[in-house]
Amino acid sequence: MVYPGGVTALAGVSMAVAAGELVAIVGPSGSGKSTLLNIIGTLDRPTSGSVHIAGRDVATLADRQLSALRAREIGFVFQQFHLADGLSAVDNVATGLLYAGVPRRQRREHALRALARVGLAHRTGHRPRQLSGGEKQRVAIARALANRPSLVLADEPTGALDTATGQSVLRLLRRLNEEGTTIVLITHDRDIAASLPRQIEIRDGRLVRDDAGSPTRTLDPAVDR
Ligand code: ADP
Repeated sequence: MVYPGGVTALAGVSMAVAAGELVAIVGPSGSGKSTLLNIIGTLDRPTSGSVHIAGRDVATLADRQLSALRAREIGFVFQQFHLADGLSAVDNVATGLLYAGVPRRQRREHALRALARVGLAHRTGHRPRQLSGGEKQRVAIARALANRPSLVLADEPTGALDTATGQSVLRLLRRLNEEGTTIVLITHDRDIAASLPRQIEIRDGRLVRDDAGSPTRTLDPAVDR
Protein backbone atom coordinates (compact mmCIF):
# COMPACT_ATOMS: atom_id res chain seq x y z
CA MET A 1 0.00 0.00 0.00
CA VAL A 2 1.54 3.28 -1.13
CA TYR A 3 -0.12 6.49 0.10
CA PRO A 4 -0.27 9.59 -2.09
CA GLY A 5 3.01 11.37 -1.44
CA GLY A 6 4.93 8.13 -1.65
CA VAL A 7 4.80 6.54 1.83
CA THR A 8 4.90 2.76 1.43
CA ALA A 9 2.84 1.70 4.43
CA LEU A 10 2.59 -2.02 3.57
CA ALA A 11 4.62 -4.21 1.22
CA GLY A 12 4.49 -7.93 0.47
CA VAL A 13 1.96 -8.72 3.18
CA SER A 14 0.06 -11.94 2.54
CA MET A 15 -2.29 -13.43 5.09
CA ALA A 16 -5.49 -15.40 5.35
CA VAL A 17 -7.91 -15.63 8.25
CA ALA A 18 -10.15 -18.67 8.47
CA ALA A 19 -13.65 -18.70 9.91
CA GLY A 20 -13.56 -19.12 13.67
CA GLU A 21 -10.10 -17.63 14.25
CA LEU A 22 -9.06 -15.06 16.84
CA VAL A 23 -6.01 -13.24 15.49
CA ALA A 24 -3.87 -10.42 16.85
CA ILE A 25 -2.09 -8.09 14.45
CA VAL A 26 0.70 -6.60 16.53
CA GLY A 27 3.35 -3.98 15.84
CA PRO A 28 4.66 -0.64 17.06
CA SER A 29 3.04 2.67 16.19
CA GLY A 30 3.50 3.53 12.53
CA SER A 31 4.17 -0.07 11.48
CA GLY A 32 1.13 -0.22 9.20
CA LYS A 33 -1.50 -1.90 11.41
CA SER A 34 -4.28 0.59 10.74
CA THR A 35 -3.48 0.58 7.05
CA LEU A 36 -3.79 -3.22 7.06
CA LEU A 37 -7.04 -3.05 9.02
CA ASN A 38 -8.48 -0.51 6.58
CA ILE A 39 -7.56 -2.79 3.69
CA ILE A 40 -8.96 -5.94 5.32
CA GLY A 41 -12.09 -3.96 6.20
CA THR A 42 -12.45 -2.72 2.59
CA LEU A 43 -12.36 0.90 3.76
CA ASP A 44 -9.29 1.43 1.58
CA ARG A 45 -8.31 -0.26 -1.66
CA PRO A 46 -4.68 -1.46 -1.87
CA THR A 47 -2.37 0.06 -4.50
CA SER A 48 -1.54 -3.48 -5.61
CA GLY A 49 -2.51 -6.95 -4.51
CA SER A 50 -5.96 -8.31 -3.77
CA VAL A 51 -8.39 -8.76 -0.90
CA HIS A 52 -10.97 -11.55 -0.69
CA ILE A 53 -13.80 -11.35 1.83
CA ALA A 54 -16.17 -14.29 2.23
CA GLY A 55 -14.87 -15.68 -1.07
CA ARG A 56 -15.27 -12.49 -3.13
CA ASP A 57 -12.48 -10.42 -4.67
CA VAL A 58 -13.45 -6.97 -3.46
CA ALA A 59 -11.69 -5.27 -6.41
CA THR A 60 -14.46 -6.57 -8.68
CA LEU A 61 -17.16 -4.76 -6.69
CA ALA A 62 -18.53 -1.27 -7.34
CA ASP A 63 -18.56 1.10 -4.35
CA ARG A 64 -22.23 0.44 -3.65
CA GLN A 65 -21.73 -3.34 -3.69
CA LEU A 66 -18.67 -2.92 -1.50
CA SER A 67 -20.66 -0.94 1.08
CA ALA A 68 -23.30 -3.67 1.08
CA LEU A 69 -20.67 -6.39 1.53
CA ARG A 70 -19.06 -4.41 4.35
CA ALA A 71 -22.40 -3.90 6.12
CA ARG A 72 -23.22 -7.59 5.83
CA GLU A 73 -19.89 -9.27 6.45
CA ILE A 74 -17.77 -6.99 8.66
CA GLY A 75 -18.28 -5.53 12.13
CA PHE A 76 -15.94 -2.75 13.30
CA VAL A 77 -14.85 -1.94 16.85
CA PHE A 78 -12.73 1.16 17.48
CA GLN A 79 -10.51 2.33 20.32
CA GLN A 80 -12.70 5.39 20.96
CA PHE A 81 -16.00 3.46 20.69
CA HIS A 82 -17.54 5.86 18.10
CA LEU A 83 -21.01 5.80 19.64
CA ALA A 84 -23.61 8.49 18.91
CA ASP A 85 -24.02 10.60 22.10
CA GLY A 86 -27.69 11.34 21.53
CA LEU A 87 -28.78 7.72 21.12
CA SER A 88 -29.50 5.04 23.72
CA ALA A 89 -27.43 1.86 23.72
CA VAL A 90 -30.12 -0.06 21.85
CA ASP A 91 -30.46 2.67 19.21
CA ASN A 92 -26.68 2.85 18.78
CA VAL A 93 -26.68 -0.87 18.03
CA ALA A 94 -29.85 -0.81 15.90
CA THR A 95 -28.57 2.07 13.76
CA GLY A 96 -25.68 -0.12 12.64
CA LEU A 97 -28.24 -2.50 11.13
CA LEU A 98 -29.86 0.23 9.06
CA TYR A 99 -27.00 0.05 6.56
CA ALA A 100 -27.35 -3.72 6.34
CA GLY A 101 -30.95 -3.26 5.17
CA VAL A 102 -32.58 -4.93 8.19
CA PRO A 103 -36.26 -3.86 8.64
CA ARG A 104 -36.99 -1.53 11.56
CA ARG A 105 -38.66 -3.91 14.03
CA GLN A 106 -36.03 -6.59 13.50
CA ARG A 107 -33.31 -4.00 14.04
CA ARG A 108 -34.53 -3.47 17.58
CA GLU A 109 -34.86 -7.20 18.26
CA HIS A 110 -31.38 -7.93 16.91
CA ALA A 111 -29.97 -5.01 18.90
CA LEU A 112 -31.50 -6.21 22.16
CA ARG A 113 -30.20 -9.71 21.55
CA ALA A 114 -26.69 -8.41 20.80
CA LEU A 115 -26.69 -6.27 23.97
CA ALA A 116 -27.70 -9.32 25.99
CA ARG A 117 -24.79 -11.27 24.49
CA VAL A 118 -22.30 -8.66 25.77
CA GLY A 119 -23.90 -8.58 29.22
CA LEU A 120 -25.76 -5.27 28.84
CA ALA A 121 -29.39 -6.37 28.89
CA HIS A 122 -29.85 -4.03 31.89
CA ARG A 123 -28.42 -0.95 30.14
CA THR A 124 -30.30 -0.81 26.84
CA GLY A 125 -31.87 2.60 27.48
CA HIS A 126 -28.69 4.31 28.72
CA ARG A 127 -26.95 7.00 26.68
CA PRO A 128 -23.18 6.69 26.18
CA ARG A 129 -22.44 9.38 28.79
CA GLN A 130 -24.33 7.32 31.38
CA LEU A 131 -22.09 4.31 30.71
CA SER A 132 -18.57 3.44 31.88
CA GLY A 133 -15.75 3.05 29.35
CA GLY A 134 -16.02 -0.73 29.48
CA GLU A 135 -19.78 -0.58 28.98
CA LYS A 136 -19.36 1.77 26.02
CA GLN A 137 -16.98 -0.67 24.40
CA ARG A 138 -19.49 -3.49 25.03
CA VAL A 139 -22.16 -1.45 23.23
CA ALA A 140 -19.73 -0.95 20.35
CA ILE A 141 -19.02 -4.70 20.31
CA ALA A 142 -22.76 -5.43 20.33
CA ARG A 143 -23.13 -3.08 17.34
CA ALA A 144 -20.34 -4.93 15.52
CA LEU A 145 -22.00 -8.30 16.25
CA ALA A 146 -25.63 -7.43 15.68
CA ASN A 147 -25.73 -8.46 12.05
CA ARG A 148 -23.75 -11.66 12.67
CA PRO A 149 -20.88 -10.63 10.38
CA SER A 150 -18.30 -13.07 8.99
CA LEU A 151 -15.56 -11.01 10.59
CA VAL A 152 -15.17 -8.56 13.48
CA LEU A 153 -12.27 -6.11 13.13
CA ALA A 154 -11.22 -4.47 16.39
CA ASP A 155 -8.72 -1.59 16.29
CA GLU A 156 -7.02 -1.30 19.73
CA PRO A 157 -10.32 -2.16 21.47
CA THR A 158 -8.76 -1.90 24.93
CA GLY A 159 -6.57 1.13 24.15
CA ALA A 160 -8.83 3.64 25.91
CA LEU A 161 -9.58 1.43 28.93
CA ASP A 162 -7.80 0.79 32.23
CA THR A 163 -6.07 -2.58 32.56
CA ALA A 164 -8.81 -4.40 34.48
CA THR A 165 -11.58 -3.13 32.18
CA GLY A 166 -9.44 -3.95 29.15
CA GLN A 167 -9.00 -7.50 30.45
CA SER A 168 -12.73 -7.91 30.83
CA VAL A 169 -13.31 -6.66 27.26
CA LEU A 170 -10.70 -9.17 26.07
CA ARG A 171 -12.45 -11.95 27.97
CA LEU A 172 -15.68 -10.95 26.24
CA LEU A 173 -13.99 -11.08 22.81
CA ARG A 174 -12.58 -14.53 23.64
CA ARG A 175 -15.99 -15.80 24.65
CA LEU A 176 -17.61 -14.42 21.50
CA ASN A 177 -14.85 -16.16 19.51
CA GLU A 178 -15.57 -19.44 21.32
CA GLU A 179 -19.21 -18.96 20.33
CA GLY A 180 -18.12 -18.78 16.69
CA THR A 181 -17.29 -15.14 15.87
CA THR A 182 -14.15 -14.62 13.78
CA ILE A 183 -12.12 -11.75 15.22
CA VAL A 184 -9.04 -9.83 14.07
CA LEU A 185 -7.73 -7.48 16.73
CA ILE A 186 -5.08 -4.82 16.28
CA THR A 187 -2.82 -3.98 19.17
CA HIS A 188 0.55 -2.47 19.95
CA ASP A 189 0.50 -4.38 23.28
CA ARG A 190 2.68 -7.50 23.10
CA ASP A 191 1.10 -9.06 26.20
CA ILE A 192 -2.38 -8.83 24.70
CA ALA A 193 -1.13 -10.25 21.41
CA ALA A 194 0.70 -13.09 23.18
CA SER A 195 -2.50 -14.03 25.02
CA LEU A 196 -4.35 -14.72 21.76
CA PRO A 197 -4.22 -17.96 19.72
CA ARG A 198 -2.50 -16.44 16.67
CA GLN A 199 -0.19 -13.45 16.31
CA ILE A 200 0.71 -11.70 13.08
CA GLU A 201 3.49 -9.18 13.59
CA ILE A 202 3.99 -6.17 11.34
CA ARG A 203 7.10 -4.05 11.35
CA ASP A 204 7.82 -1.22 8.90
CA GLY A 205 4.95 -2.38 6.72
CA ARG A 206 6.19 -5.95 6.43
CA LEU A 207 4.87 -9.14 7.93
CA VAL A 208 7.71 -10.43 10.12
CA ARG A 209 5.94 -13.20 11.98
CA ASP A 210 2.82 -15.33 11.72
CA ASP A 211 2.53 -18.03 14.33
CA ALA A 212 -0.54 -19.70 12.86
CA GLY A 213 -0.33 -23.30 13.99
CA SER A 214 2.74 -24.52 15.79
CA PRO A 215 5.66 -24.50 16.05
CA THR A 216 6.05 -20.73 15.88
CA ARG A 217 7.41 -19.51 12.57
CA THR A 218 9.44 -16.35 12.41
CA LEU A 219 9.70 -14.97 8.90
CA ASP A 220 12.81 -13.16 7.75
CA PRO A 221 11.56 -9.99 6.06
CA ALA A 222 14.67 -9.92 3.88
CA VAL A 223 13.80 -13.19 2.17
CA ASP A 224 10.06 -13.39 2.62
CA ARG A 225 8.77 -10.80 0.21
P1 ADP B 1 -0.06 1.97 12.76
O1 ADP B 1 -1.51 1.74 12.70
O2 ADP B 1 0.72 0.72 12.96
O3 ADP B 1 0.33 3.03 13.77
P2 ADP B 1 -0.41 3.20 10.14
O4 ADP B 1 -0.98 2.16 9.26
O5 ADP B 1 -1.32 4.23 10.69
O6 ADP B 1 0.43 2.51 11.33
O7 ADP B 1 0.74 3.98 9.35
C1 ADP B 1 1.75 3.32 8.59
C2 ADP B 1 2.60 4.36 7.85
O8 ADP B 1 1.82 4.98 6.83
C3 ADP B 1 3.10 5.48 8.74
O9 ADP B 1 4.40 5.82 8.29
C4 ADP B 1 2.12 6.60 8.49
O10 ADP B 1 2.73 7.85 8.70
C5 ADP B 1 1.75 6.39 7.03
N1 ADP B 1 0.36 6.82 6.73
C6 ADP B 1 -0.76 6.36 7.34
N2 ADP B 1 -1.86 6.92 6.80
C7 ADP B 1 -1.43 7.75 5.81
C8 ADP B 1 -2.09 8.61 4.85
N3 ADP B 1 -3.41 8.71 4.80
N4 ADP B 1 -1.30 9.32 4.00
C9 ADP B 1 0.06 9.19 4.03
N5 ADP B 1 0.73 8.40 4.88
C10 ADP B 1 0.01 7.68 5.77
